[in-house]
Amino acid sequence: MLAQRNLRRQRLQRAVLMGSSLALVFIVLWWVGAFTQVRLSLTSVYFTSVPTSERIVIVALDDAALSAYGRSPALWSRAVYADLLGHLADDGARVVAFDLLFSEPAEGDAQLVEAMQMARTSRTRTRIVLATAGIQVQPAIGGDTRQGQLEFSNALMPTTELLAAADYLGYANVFPDVDGLIRRQISQVSQSGQNGYAFSLASYLAYLRIPALLAGQVIERDGDTLFVTPESRLKTDANGLWLQNYFGPPSVRGNMTFPVVSVLDVVNERVETGFFTDKIVLVGLVDTQGATDRYPVPAAEAGRLMSGVEIQANAIETLLQDRALVEMDTALEGVLIVVLTLGASLLYAYPRWPLKLILMSVLVSGWWLLAFVVFGTQNVMLNLLHPTLALAVPAILSIGLDITLETRLRRRSEFLLESTTAISEQRLSLERILPLVANDIQRMMDAKRGAIWVLDDDMRDWVIGYAWPDDYQATPSTKLAVLAAERSLQSQMQGHDMVVPTVYQQRANAVISLDAKQINRSEGRALVSLRELTAQVAPNIENALLYNQVLRQRDIVETVLANSPASIVLVDQRGRIVSHNQAFEQTFGPPDEATPDLFDQFADEPSENINPLRDQLQQNTRFRLEMDVGGRSYQVDGALVETTLQWVLVFNDVTGLIELTRLKTRMIRMASHDLKNPLSRVSGYAQLIEMSTELEPEVAHFLKHIDSAANEMLTLITELLDLEQLQADDGQRETIDFARLVAEVFSRHEPDATRKGQQLTKDLSAGSVQLEGQHRQLSQMVSNLIGNAIKYTPDGGNIVVRLSQNDTVIRFEVEDDGIGIPKAAQAKLFTEFYRVKSEATANISGTGLGLSLVRSVAEDHHGKVGVVSEAGQGSLFFVELPTKAVKSTTLESDGM
Ligand code: ADP
Repeated sequence: MLAQRNLRRQRLQRAVLMGSSLALVFIVLWWVGAFTQVRLSLTSVYFTSVPTSERIVIVALDDAALSAYGRSPALWSRAVYADLLGHLADDGARVVAFDLLFSEPAEGDAQLVEAMQMARTSRTRTRIVLATAGIQVQPAIGGDTRQGQLEFSNALMPTTELLAAADYLGYANVFPDVDGLIRRQISQVSQSGQNGYAFSLASYLAYLRIPALLAGQVIERDGDTLFVTPESRLKTDANGLWLQNYFGPPSVRGNMTFPVVSVLDVVNERVETGFFTDKIVLVGLVDTQGATDRYPVPAAEAGRLMSGVEIQANAIETLLQDRALVEMDTALEGVLIVVLTLGASLLYAYPRWPLKLILMSVLVSGWWLLAFVVFGTQNVMLNLLHPTLALAVPAILSIGLDITLETRLRRRSEFLLESTTAISEQRLSLERILPLVANDIQRMMDAKRGAIWVLDDDMRDWVIGYAWPDDYQATPSTKLAVLAAERSLQSQMQGHDMVVPTVYQQRANAVISLDAKQINRSEGRALVSLRELTAQVAPNIENALLYNQVLRQRDIVETVLANSPASIVLVDQRGRIVSHNQAFEQTFGPPDEATPDLFDQFADEPSENINPLRDQLQQNTRFRLEMDVGGRSYQVDGALVETTLQWVLVFNDVTGLIELTRLKTRMIRMASHDLKNPLSRVSGYAQLIEMSTELEPEVAHFLKHIDSAANEMLTLITELLDLEQLQADDGQRETIDFARLVAEVFSRHEPDATRKGQQLTKDLSAGSVQLEGQHRQLSQMVSNLIGNAIKYTPDGGNIVVRLSQNDTVIRFEVEDDGIGIPKAAQAKLFTEFYRVKSEATANISGTGLGLSLVRSVAEDHHGKVGVVSEAGQGSLFFVELPTKAVKSTTLESDGM
């Protein structure tokens, strides 16, 4: 997201930079007039054949006439012109304009003067225009001409007689543009203080029948506009030059813009009558061999020239149709170039290259279309060259830049792809991946020294996984950087080192640190490339690390299994063996290779021995059971592997243990039978002696000791027997009214308490409390707790027995204000044979078995015991039993 925005900003900056520099270049080129020729020749497209007003006819002094009257028309007998003029006037020509210089007197001048006078006074009042040519412009063009007109230092004037007989005198000079083409026409001129008009303008005025004397009053100048009549106006430059139009190409036979007839045809009356009626007739050299009066014009096809008289005809036609051309305003043109260049650059900033090309063609053709529309409606010739450049060059440059950038990007992503592929092929071997990564970094960044740090075997600490060169020693700052990188998960420069972690799922699994002094690139770019690479390789490194770890763990598990003395086997729910260890094979023999089946191993056993195991495999809880196979006893622990629904079975041979237990039971039974009687007798006789005889006080004292020692031994034996019996006892459970049981035991103990002057009270407000259990065991438990309270509470103390219950728990408590138990002793209190040794207990005899029995019974009923006590303050023992205390044959999971 951020990267996207950055990219956009970068592109925009690039476009602005490119646009403004290009705009500057274009403006400079435009200002110094570079490409003017191209620009001018481009304007030629504006000149297309347009129908004329058909008010102009050209009488050509052609090759035929030249060969009839001589090569130089100025030297012909003027009688020829007089004859011509006569014919034209007779036919009703409105204006006859001679595009010829009659500056030297010649033979027949008088006849011409006469003909001119006749024509002017004829019915049609034909106007006569004679041509002159101004010589040398003062000052030169481009100089200071405030008048908006040209000033000639001299002119080739017609002879005085001819001039006097004519209506108008017109300057026939033409001025080519820098490309040699004639586009401009003069308007007003001055020569020796006399004002004059261009040949075309003079002919036009004559056509309008404006007398030459009044012309100065009709024609008005306002700034750069010359009002020829109030309706028709010319836009002129500082020299009074204006842009004429062309209505067709130079005349060729069969394709003529203006009607052209040969002078010979006119004088020989080969032209139909009325051909010249009311027309402007221009007389001049047309399309003659070797004539110099021929010029390149924009409307011509390449190489074709137009004769002077034709150019004048086009100029007059321009005035007749009021179609003078206008060039764009210079300031506007400059602004336009800048605006178009910048605008186009911005427009090309974002699209991809095909769109840029399309945009460019649309814009360029749009500009050209606009130019033609403006030309068609306003006669304004928009600059075609510079705007076209302004619209096209930024697109081409921008595409070029795009291609360069894209190529570079592609090369880089190809490189990354190549490298990632190579790395992926190494799959899970860190030893092979790391050198490849290192190699890529060296190639990509020119990094001469660096190291890749990866997590160690325990995935706790960083160690150098690969370094180049081999002896590259990471500096202490690198280690700091590694830690920093690990914490912030960011790349950074630390001193002379560049550090980039490879991050997988927001956790760094490796860190690349480079000696930044050795990197040949700008810091920012190098970091970006390195980050891209690390993003690509991070998953591979992670996989390799995990794979390594799994391999190691598998090794450990396999070693443990192989060396375990217990037989371990992995089976599915039907008992098919998936794998087994050495001990299993040694104990039960090798399983069948083709169809290894656990129960095939036990095929010789009676099915009642094996079925419990078979049943357990169908359940989904871990279990422990005992099983006899081959005359030996096994404790079988089963744990379910939930992902595969397979069982791990561990067979422990407990034959020896069972033997021992039997031995122990036998020993205790023997003790009960064989020791109890003699001890009772010892105690009995000791009492007899004491009662029957008068004894020395010392002897009586010894006898008492014998009696109490015998009694202690008896108690010990009784309690041992009880405990053993309780543990071995899996007698029937019954529903017991626990409140009643407590009350019975309570009353048995009342005499003892009374003897010690103790206050023994009970709070059995819970009413009847039902539970499933063993009566004898529970009585023993209650009795032990009440007995202890009486025993360990000094004479006159208080003892309270309570029973309560809620929905889930039955709670039995015995509280006394006796000697209490130090905190340190409380933890071991319920272990067998443990007794608190203190001054307070020194004279109280006991075996340390009572509380362990209490715990045994409580746990056998799925309950628990606890004590709250403070030395010297008293104790509170409690037992909590679940309301439904049902003994299960399987072991509960928390028992394992
Ligand atoms: P015994 O009473 O035979 O020594 P027990 O297992 O019943 O064995 O008790 C273990 C020890 O816990 C006792 O030796 C005694 O120090 C301490 N003890 C038991 N009950 C109390 C009690 N109500 N007040 C103080 N100490 C007690």
